[in-house]
Amino acid sequence: MRNISKEDYLSAIYKNIDSNSKVKANVIAEKMDVSNAAVTDMLKKLAKESLIIYEPYKTIKLTPTGESYAKNIVRRHRIWELFLHQIVGLPWDKVHDEAENLEHSGSDELINRMEVMLNFPEFDPHGDPIPAIDGSIPKQRDSVSLSKLKEKECGLVVRVNDFSQNFLVYLAQIGIELKQKIEVKEIRSFDNSMLVLIAGNEFNISKTLADNVFVEIVKN
Ligand SMILES: [Zn+2]
Repeated sequence: MRNISKEDYLSAIYKNIDSNSKVKANVIAEKMDVSNAAVTDMLKKLAKESLIIYEPYKTIKLTPTGESYAKNIVRRHRIWELFLHQIVGLPWDKVHDEAENLEHSGSDELINRMEVMLNFPEFDPHGDPIPAIDGSIPKQRDSVSLSKLKEKECGLVVRVNDFSQNFLVYLAQIGIELKQKIEVKEIRSFDNSMLVLIAGNEFNISKTLADNVFVEIVKN
């Protein structure tokens, strides 16, 4: 099994902080699929190294050092993902696992050169923003989950959650990709599933699927 490193924890914290820049320890345990005890141990270590502020039973916050450390790992991960997708040609469902290993290797110089080669990309293959070398984060377009759309509304896909490989494979099968237009034809009130139109084809999609696809609302 892959060794879960300090870097993985920092990036998990970074990716899960709420609008107040805080996250609870049990959220991290759940996201990383480890025990609460293991998380507590690691959080104590990170606090000792002044990368996070943590008091047991309270929420976690990244220190400025912790935040820039975390951003760098996320940056590496997303540049690797895009490189694997655009240059190597791996589909979007395969890049996350590969990048998970690669993000820990390679010098900053290599990552910076890949960034140049990719022409300073702002988003990874799932639509997540890539932190720039100075730590700035590209601004995302205003988006809502597809499940928030009403009947007859249209959206352009700007981001998808990359939590599951099967989910990404399925999205690709029905033609959902970044920048794809989706029109909501019908919403079934008994289970909130939707009939949608994607590139001329109709599909029934579940509420779970619609919750994990984010779109910018556009006129049809
Ligand atoms: Zn991604």
